[in-house]
Amino acid sequence: MPTPHAALRALPKVHTLLESDAAQTLHADWPRASVLAEMRAEIDARRQQILAGEMPAVTEDAVLEAVAARLKAKDLKRLRRVVNATGIVIHTNLGRAPMAEAAVRAVTEAARGYTNLEMDLHTGKRGGRGGQIGELLQTLTGAEAVLVVNNNAAAVLLALGTLASGGDVVISRGELVEIGGGFRVPDVITQSGARLVEVGTTNKTRLADYARAVTADTKVLLKVHPSNYKLVGFVEETPVSELAGLASERGLVLMNDLGSGALVDLTQYGLPLEPTVPETLAAGADVVTVSGDKLLGGPQCGLILGRRELIERLGANPLYRALRADKLTLAALEATLRLYLDPARLTETVPILGMLAANKDALARRARRLRTMLAKIDGVETRLADGDGFTGGGALPTVPLPTKRVLVRAAGMSAEALAAALRRADPPVIAVIDDDWLAFDVRTVQGGEFRLIADALRGAIESL
Ligand SMILES: *Cc1c(COP(=O)(O)O)cnc(C)c1O
Repeated sequence: MPTPHAALRALPKVHTLLESDAAQTLHADWPRASVLAEMRAEIDARRQQILAGEMPAVTEDAVLEAVAARLKAKDLKRLRRVVNATGIVIHTNLGRAPMAEAAVRAVTEAARGYTNLEMDLHTGKRGGRGGQIGELLQTLTGAEAVLVVNNNAAAVLLALGTLASGGDVVISRGELVEIGGGFRVPDVITQSGARLVEVGTTNKTRLADYARAVTADTKVLLKVHPSNYKLVGFVEETPVSELAGLASERGLVLMNDLGSGALVDLTQYGLPLEPTVPETLAAGADVVTVSGDKLLGGPQCGLILGRRELIERLGANPLYRALRADKLTLAALEATLRLYLDPARLTETVPILGMLAANKDALARRARRLRTMLAKIDGVETRLADGDGFTGGGALPTVPLPTKRVLVRAAGMSAEALAAALRRADPPVIAVIDDDWLAFDVRTVQGGEFRLIADALRGAIESL
């Protein structure tokens, strides 16, 4: 056994490691600075082990292998594409809506060169921001005007900050919700410089409750889609159409934070009734705010739609300058909205809608196809099972999406260990655990990704 002194001397030096053949392959995959940093860290870790009386391997090969593992572990933090086999369609932790092909192309083109972001090509002078988005949304929703900001949280903040600051916002006690990730309606109202006036009860709020609370200080009647929770049973809410009457009578702004932002009726895809943007505007809401990357199926952004005079006031608020969306987002949004001009094809063109609309037969066929591929891998046991997916993104929380799952298990590996190994695959595959099986829900797996799942699973089994 070597003495600690001999072991310290035997530790390879960074410059010798850098010249080895194995290091050349590392250089092909990783930036030089990263390779160097991890070599230093690994040599240092082994030096500390030796000084602590341990006997780590000190060969070049052993150290380089550990360096490669460090680089790979670090790489898992890089923002990258993953395969979503969870069955949760709008998965906030996985980046919500995958974008339509047309949107991807639009982003690429806008990113690569210059754009007419704020130039009117007729006159060559400075023009409005956002291309055709305003016109498209006028056509699709009936809104007089539109503003696009970074997300729906920004939309609500800007709208309340402009329209309600210094006054009262009247809202039902049943709609003082937390959407998640720090978005709590009461806090947003306070942050906007308005005073919160809550009316009604948790389960029932009537028009008369709102009417009684209106004073000379009231500026906005606010309705919020409760999104990720649902009241059932002895409940009553006041519809937008009734609130619209009160708002116009008393000279108030009626604002509705719809959250999910369906542009079209989802019942045509077998989903429950959700209020749509056009319906809500037609019912008399003055301002409607929605997310771009939930049921709309576009990029992360917030849309503020409504009466021209109000939207112009929001656009003139200096806060808008800080919250407005960038050219890549606008390019993706415009391309996505254009797809809505062809509503009969939406389930083919907008991935989110295709996934939500997928019927049981189609899912069962796809599950059988995936199972056939996975069953060919040595050491894997497979079966098909029914399961429930969800819309996600705070939409339709109580409505499971019945689905088909492919279940797998491998001898000598727990479902948790298998799930962890698949998360470390390239690209990572995110599956769900179902008892002691690992489950792949085919609803959220896109075309071409079956092969990636099979490769990841094979890799995980071979690493055993
Ligand atoms: C999701 C949601 C928000 C927040 O939207 P982001 O786009 O995530 O900022 C706000 N209000 C409601 C009702 C929502 O559902």
